Amino acid sequence: MAKTYRQILDEARKLVPETSVEDLKRRLDAGEVPVLLDVREKEEIRQGAIPGAIPLPRGFLEIQVEEKLPDKNAPVVAYCASGTRSLLAGRMLKELGYTNVVSLAGGFTSWKNKGLPIEAERQFTSEQQIRYSRHFLLSEVGEKGQAKLLDAKVLCIGAGGLGSPAAFYLAAAGVGTIGLVDMDVVDLSNLQRQILHTNDRIGMPKTESARMTLNALNPDVKVLEFRERLSSENAFRIFEPFDVIVNGCDNFPTRYLANDACVMLGKPLVDGAIWQFEGQATVFHPPLGPCYRCLFPEPPPPGAVPSCAEAGVLGVLPGLVGCVQALEAIKLILGVGRPLLGRMMHFDTLDGEVRVLKLRRNENCVVCGDAPTIRHLIDYEAFCGLGPTPPAPADEPPPGMVDVRKVG
Ligand SMILES: [Zn+2]
Repeated sequence: MAKTYRQILDEARKLVPETSVEDLKRRLDAGEVPVLLDVREKEEIRQGAIPGAIPLPRGFLEIQVEEKLPDKNAPVVAYCASGTRSLLAGRMLKELGYTNVVSLAGGFTSWKNKGLPIEAERQFTSEQQIRYSRHFLLSEVGEKGQAKLLDAKVLCIGAGGLGSPAAFYLAAAGVGTIGLVDMDVVDLSNLQRQILHTNDRIGMPKTESARMTLNALNPDVKVLEFRERLSSENAFRIFEPFDVIVNGCDNFPTRYLANDACVMLGKPLVDGAIWQFEGQATVFHPPLGPCYRCLFPEPPPPGAVPSCAEAGVLGVLPGLVGCVQALEAIKLILGVGRPLLGRMMHFDTLDGEVRVLKLRRNENCVVCGDAPTIRHLIDYEAFCGLGPTPPAPADEPPPGMVDVRKVG
């Protein structure tokens, strides 16, 4: 004879012991660590859950539980919203051979009504669910990762060649706060590569033009403008609120200043440089890897390196390097993958070669070494003009660099 729902529930209650929220709280406070299995639907879990619970909606229980919970003798506390679905889930777990399963009477509602701690996932608007849907599909990003991106603050030094693609992609990915340091105005000669700006904005401050483009792309992004020249006076103030600094500067004084300020504040610096047809990108974050001064302790002598304005730069090249910088910043925020720490990606666009150079940290580095001699920020004279970092020569990597891989 067919059973009624009531009969099935009564049977489950006989098979699966129940525990109260008070008892569960006492067990957790005493340091016990039962597996908390949340069998509610995804939408319900999004509203909040008991901290540390494993989400496994009832509909996926039989299919996924052995993968998520391989130890069939582990103590399990199953819960749902009110304590009914968890009883049925408990019965199924017993059939699957789980020996120590209880159901939380009153479920999550009772837990929450007693004012016990809950963990709520970030609420995404329906527009955000569509906008970031391709991130949600990646287990390495997902909703948790997207929440991290939206909470992250990235500073781009320069809203020019490198800052344009970097900030553009950071905004598209949903990095919630993007700072831009630049005191220049948009010039016609910028538009060959600085894709944040447009013809009708010539003469407009670059930070303002950048803000308009970034917000037109993604209104979630808060753009902070710093229309000032980075100096020893303002570097700490500007850098302080940000999690990651992306360096898109085009001159040596700023490159050394940004490096030293990041070392002193302990912030990761995603560095990039371009030169005619060559570019490079790396992450400086000692002691996990070197800093810029580990490789080049002092600026080059005046006039040793010509500027981009003197030497020229291929239009697409900053896009390549700036995109790698955005990618590295996002990896750092998400904590996924292997950052370019102690490694430098070098592009030779004419030869179509990408090489990864190994960079060594210098224990005697003047700023990040064991006994640093530089303890204050230095404003170098702008004697070297607008010179970018010299790229690693193709055949002779500079001291501290060892060519480890060649990709055709
Ligand atoms: Zn160093």
